[in-house]
Amino acid sequence: MQKRVYIETYGCQMNELDTERMLRILEGSRYVETKNAGEADFILINTCSVREKPEHKVYSALGRYKGLKEKRGAIIGVAGCVAQQEGSRLLDRIPYLDLVIGTHAIPMLPQLLKKIETSGERVCETVYDQDGEYLKAVLPQKPPDKVKSYVTIMQGCDHFCSFCIVPYVRGREKSRPSREIVEEVKQLAGMGLKEVCLLGQNVNGYGRGLEEKISFSELLERINDIEGVERIRFTTSHPKDLSEELIRAFSKLPKLCEHIHLPFQSGSNKVLKAMHRGYTKESYIEKIDRLKKVCPSIAVTADVIVGFPGEEEEDFEGTLDLLQRVRFDDLFSFKYSPRKGTRAAQFEDKVGEKVKQERLSVLQGMQRGITLQKNQECEDRMEEVLVEGRSKQSAQDVTGRTRSNKIVNFEGDMSLVGKLVSVRITKAYAHSLRGELVASQCRLQNVDCGMKFSKSVT
Ligand code: SAM
Ligand code: SF4
Repeated sequence: MQKRVYIETYGCQMNELDTERMLRILEGSRYVETKNAGEADFILINTCSVREKPEHKVYSALGRYKGLKEKRGAIIGVAGCVAQQEGSRLLDRIPYLDLVIGTHAIPMLPQLLKKIETSGERVCETVYDQDGEYLKAVLPQKPPDKVKSYVTIMQGCDHFCSFCIVPYVRGREKSRPSREIVEEVKQLAGMGLKEVCLLGQNVNGYGRGLEEKISFSELLERINDIEGVERIRFTTSHPKDLSEELIRAFSKLPKLCEHIHLPFQSGSNKVLKAMHRGYTKESYIEKIDRLKKVCPSIAVTADVIVGFPGEEEEDFEGTLDLLQRVRFDDLFSFKYSPRKGTRAAQFEDKVGEKVKQERLSVLQGMQRGITLQKNQECEDRMEEVLVEGRSKQSAQDVTGRTRSNKIVNFEGDMSLVGKLVSVRITKAYAHSLRGELVASQCRLQNVDCGMKFSKSVT
């Protein structure tokens, strides 16, 4: 008999992809997805512990589903970073929880579920897998009804930034062999997907520890050669490992989109040192300047933390100065959140909550203005847009993204989905652009559609 699974996901793209993988694995073993927790036989909460806020949400979600356990006997599970970190302590703390499954144990999900179903036992599996089995592709059984997909190229992290829990909950850095990645991308392209986003905590460290000698830029070249793939993106890069070879890839590879997400975390060298980031504000700016020289139309986004222990007013001013100098297209900003087990959690000169909040508001206010200006710079331009689906705002509109990753809404029908079209930008908003369709075909580097590609090495 078919059963229904509901997965609630918190956190980053890595978690979104893990959720997709778990759904695909379960579809192969009697489960179908439901979007309604109330009718699910298995409820799984895929958690994030990078900051305190998403971690708290996990506990309140569990509280919400307690009733369903009592009413329908649903199996309740926790996956992801909190599961990896807390392990069997979660079973002790939450008596109605049946399953705790860590970040490397995803391929074991069907057998763990079977054990619970047949024996009624409560199960915890947080093994670290040395063979990379957890990195293997799990392809959809039928062509998915979307135009883009994440592809994991590596997992874990060896950087140990002093604030970050990732190396403790995702394990050491491990790259997937390039032939597996290329094969997965070919299969996705064969199913009609047009865009891939290569995922890892630090993708520009790709290749370390593999038997084959391959750099991240070489991997990009191989993916650029795959027929059917129209666009390539990647996230996240570490500024320390951003090589000249990768910078030049932006001018060389036609399918590589003109966008980089390059978290800087702070604009103060004193704070960067305490964070153990391995670069300075000046070297970060030099890399951005180099990227903009090689690829003038590149969009730059980043992550930043305010209120790290020891951050004084002048350090924060340094962060604001970096915002003004780089003029990021968008920014993900966070208040520092102490994570148990990390080095920074032991640091003394903590910044008070009120100051953290004030700094976050100032920074976000400044960035809102810059983002709007950057969006306004797109007005009257022609942009290549990959159409993703119906717009949430209007039934007459479709939505898609520019190569620089900006959202564009414009009037059009669903026959455009999956196509690269040419759109004139008519109006910029804080979080999106409005446009009008000019041509329902837009070939890469086609000067006729007005695209300004800067694919020449400087
Ligand atoms: N690997 C990426 C890098 O090195 O930039 C970042 C991955 S982390 C999952 C995503 C973002 O969460 C970080 O860039 C950082 O801004 C934020 N973050 C991580 N730990 C944090 C903490 N303890 N408090 C606040 N923000 C944090
Ligand atoms: Fe965390 Fe630093 Fe690794 Fe990024 S590079 S995942 S911030 S330890």
